[in-house]
Amino acid sequence: MAEKKAKKTTKKQEAPKMATEKKPAAKPRVGVFICHCGTNIAGSIDIEALQEYAKSLPDVAFADNYQYMCSTPGQNKVMDAIKEHDLNGVVVAACTPRLHEPTFRTASKEGGLNPFRFEMANIREQNSWVHMHDRKGATDKAKDAVRIAVAKAALLEDLFPKSVPVEKAAMVVGAGIAGMQAALDLANAGIKTYLVEKEPTIGGRMSQLDKTFPTLDCSQCILTPKMVDVGRAENIELMTYSEVENVEGYIGNFDVTIRKKARGVLTPAEAEAKGIVGGGCNGCGDCDEVCPVIKPNTFEMGMKPRKAIYIQHPQVVPLIYTVDFDTCVKCGLCVEACGDKKAIDLEMQDEFVTVKVGTAILATGYDIFEIEKKDEWGYKKYENVITSLEFERLICASGPTGGHLVRPSDGETPKKIAFLLCAGSRDNTGVGKPYCSRFCCMYSLKHAHQIIEKIPGATPYLFYMDIRSFGKMYEEFYYRIQDEGARFIRGRVANVLEDPVTKNLKVMADDTLLDRPMNLEVDMVVLAAAVQPTRQADPVRKLFGVSCSQDGWLLEAHPKLNPCGTTTAGVYLAGVCQGPKDIPDTVASAEGAASAASIPIHKGEVELEPYFAQCREEICAGCGMCVNLCPYSALALVEKEGRKVMEVTEAKCKGCGTCGGFCPGGAIYMQHFTTPQIVAQIDAFLLGGEE
Ligand code: FAD
Ligand code: SF4
Ligand code: SF4
Ligand code: SF4
Ligand code: SF4
Ligand code: SF4
Ligand code: SF4
Repeated sequence: MAEKKAKKTTKKQEAPKMATEKKPAAKPRVGVFICHCGTNIAGSIDIEALQEYAKSLPDVAFADNYQYMCSTPGQNKVMDAIKEHDLNGVVVAACTPRLHEPTFRTASKEGGLNPFRFEMANIREQNSWVHMHDRKGATDKAKDAVRIAVAKAALLEDLFPKSVPVEKAAMVVGAGIAGMQAALDLANAGIKTYLVEKEPTIGGRMSQLDKTFPTLDCSQCILTPKMVDVGRAENIELMTYSEVENVEGYIGNFDVTIRKKARGVLTPAEAEAKGIVGGGCNGCGDCDEVCPVIKPNTFEMGMKPRKAIYIQHPQVVPLIYTVDFDTCVKCGLCVEACGDKKAIDLEMQDEFVTVKVGTAILATGYDIFEIEKKDEWGYKKYENVITSLEFERLICASGPTGGHLVRPSDGETPKKIAFLLCAGSRDNTGVGKPYCSRFCCMYSLKHAHQIIEKIPGATPYLFYMDIRSFGKMYEEFYYRIQDEGARFIRGRVANVLEDPVTKNLKVMADDTLLDRPMNLEVDMVVLAAAVQPTRQADPVRKLFGVSCSQDGWLLEAHPKLNPCGTTTAGVYLAGVCQGPKDIPDTVASAEGAASAASIPIHKGEVELEPYFAQCREEICAGCGMCVNLCPYSALALVEKEGRKVMEVTEAKCKGCGTCGGFCPGGAIYMQHFTTPQIVAQIDAFLLGGEE
């Protein structure tokens, strides 16, 4: 296609008359700049040939190339050429626009051009990197990309971003360590912050842990002060037992509706508002004692019971009981026990509140993979096979056994314990997860230390594929556990079988270092189960317009250059919801997200990219069919001069193009993606410059 003679052929279609059009378009004079990117591009594409080709294209007034176009001299070339050659369109053939579109827009602007008269041709990610052994083919493909970009650049118009004010408030969804840290940072920066947590208490997974690697400090001891700070912070409005129900709006102006689930128990402030003097829940627990309904406590991984009116653990924040209406039989005994505090309202209903925020952070964390799906290890089949999170609760002094590690089958203290690492992670069978869960090597080393410390004569056996101890002082921790006497066997466990009489377990694996099969009898097996994104993140990420990767983790805007942002402006990610991270990395990511989320709020206004739909009122039939199609509620029919026409709320429009593609009369005009521009690109591709 590219070899065809390049010749001006596409008859330029008239752009529709727009209110934004001020003067007839000048004759196109496009400048083309080709980047070598060192050898990244130049190693596979003939830059000289591409430049000569670009020069031969219609509407091209100038073409040049440079080693690194994004460098200061590279950008200066663009700025100087705009002035010297009176350019009114710029094409840079380089990497992905995700990386450097803003760089070259700024350069175009500094050269005196409207920044939206710039187009990028991706000849790196979509070309040289994938065709590195086919120089001719890659060069031909680059010619196609440049020709298509020039065809559009010749029709680009001046566009002007819209500034919108930013509400001085933020929302954080999920109150694990990531959400709490982000909320505290925002609050300390003077920003009113709504912290929404679906559970009755804040703290997330970290409050289930006993000690934390590699320092072995008590998890609750370092977490509780933060939980208390969150509970007390003036700028934080804590909404526990609450979920995001609806999101409308855009950066700077999100209207978020929260469902406050009926808790059945009044806080002291709620009681006061109802005129109950000195009432509301004080956490005395009298109701808990009389409640006849017993359920497994999920915080304790089902290994301890709770009542239908409950707190998950003694350190909850806020210290308010919750009625589990799914199991409550409404016997009223708790109401009687509560007495004058009048805290319990068994008829309480869910409430909805809508708040306005400028930015939002999602920190919805993770769940444990259903490891019973890997049935070869016998979880849920054999009593003495447990997960690492169950191990955390069993070894924890505040856990169901007061910190005594015992076998679930007989309450005996185990002496030989096998830890199966990568259980369900790094698994390409289609049952487990292909990724590394990143913190299970380290917490399994921690678990090995804990049993050596707590149970005299106990031996931990760690079955591993690789030990990944990548953090600060982590490798040193690994050496320490080796020195303490932990046994390491390199090999994935094929099978675990139970002796039905003793309930001991036979662990069968290949020791790949000694190259021989291994058959070890142990008292207990602990599975370092993979982690996965929590299912409850899915509705909320969709409401905020955030994508997820193939494995379900929420997707950042760019893994290196914008790891806390998302493709929805004003929405950021913190913690494990984005991918497995240990606590230090989680806290760092939360601080990054809080900083990013505070920038628009402190600036006070943001610029929206002007890729809005526009309505040509003179040909709009007022049929209204486009209104319900808009996923962002940006369209409304309004009365103008005695007839109905469609109106776009520009700040709400995301430029998705749905309405533009649909309108039967062609009344919708997509700025920067106009029909003439797209047709010119298609022509340039299909005709290769030929009539
Ligand atoms: P989470 O703790 O999962 O918090 C997410 C919060 O969001 C939860 O409170 C959840 O209820 C809430 N939420 C979810 N969806 C919604 C929604 N739709 N609406 C509102 N709220 C929502 N790391 C270490 O550094 N050291 C260790 O020793 C260590 N040991 C570990 C041991 C085990 C067995 C495991 C499994 C992990 C361990 N980790 C350790 C890792 C540690 O747990 C995580 O790094 C940390 O908990 C991540 O915090 P987070 O806030 O991102 O997620
Ligand atoms: Fe590499 Fe893109 Fe910079 Fe060119 S503009 S040097 S392709 S990163
Ligand atoms: Fe709260 Fe009343 Fe129960 Fe005490 S008896 S914990 S005040 S609800
Ligand atoms: Fe328990 Fe419900 Fe009876 Fe209260 S009313 S004691 S919560 S079962
Ligand atoms: Fe396996 Fe270690 Fe990665 Fe966990 S962190 S998946 S145990 S390699
Ligand atoms: Fe107007 Fe087209 Fe929308 Fe109908 S579909 S209201 S014609 S813009
Ligand atoms: Fe709505 Fe149309 Fe804008 Fe898409 S392009 S967001 S459908 S107004």
